[in-house]
Amino acid sequence: MRASARWYRWLILICSSLLLHSSGCASKSAHTITQVGTFHDLSAGAFDGRMPCRRLGSYGNFGLGTFHALDGEMIVSDGKIYQAKSDGKVYLPNGSMPVPFAELVSFAPRVKLMFKGGENYAALEDQIDRAVPDRDIFCAIRVRGRFSKMKLRSVPPQVKPYPRLVEATNRQPVFQFDGVSGTMVGFRSPLYAGEITVPGYHFHFISDDGNSGGHVLEFAIESAAAEIEECDRFLLITPDKGMGGN
Ligand SMILES: [Zn+2]
Repeated sequence: MRASARWYRWLILICSSLLLHSSGCASKSAHTITQVGTFHDLSAGAFDGRMPCRRLGSYGNFGLGTFHALDGEMIVSDGKIYQAKSDGKVYLPNGSMPVPFAELVSFAPRVKLMFKGGENYAALEDQIDRAVPDRDIFCAIRVRGRFSKMKLRSVPPQVKPYPRLVEATNRQPVFQFDGVSGTMVGFRSPLYAGEITVPGYHFHFISDDGNSGGHVLEFAIESAAAEIEECDRFLLITPDKGMGGN
């Protein structure tokens, strides 16, 4: 079966901001990924925030994203929103900070994997693919533990006219930590969903002390556990551009 034919498995709802307010389609339904904005727009340079980050809590307690003007990497862990900026520091953003892209879930994992150490990004992907072999299934993934290497990036804020995402990330500061404890939050998305969300694996990281974070480029596990939630619904919200000040 062609991957594109598998969309029937997913309930895809596209909500305008008007519909969102009038129908209450915001949801914390179990095993539902809620995404604000599309990866297609973000890739094209649509970095203006569309929704204040205080709203994100209604869509889940776990996830990732970015902020207005691409000002840093968003990590949502245990309901707390972190902003890992390009100066290498982590901030707690004001609730009015608008976001152009975020992906959230009320995390309820059903699969757990243990790692003894030495695993890199490819090995983690391989073990998760063995545990959840159907690549057409969206997964939310949390990896908690200690890492002998963690290589992160965080993009500096962009100015208009905005470049494309790939040009912005070409100028990204990179930070490497040798020996750090923390949590990777992320998703595995089907390749066929690549216009809507980031295809394949995508992780952000926050250290246990809350001082270090960013988009994960490379890592090596010292000891860690991965928890995986298979998600059978994907809710896409595309708010009006005028919502940034709400
Ligand atoms: Zn990222």
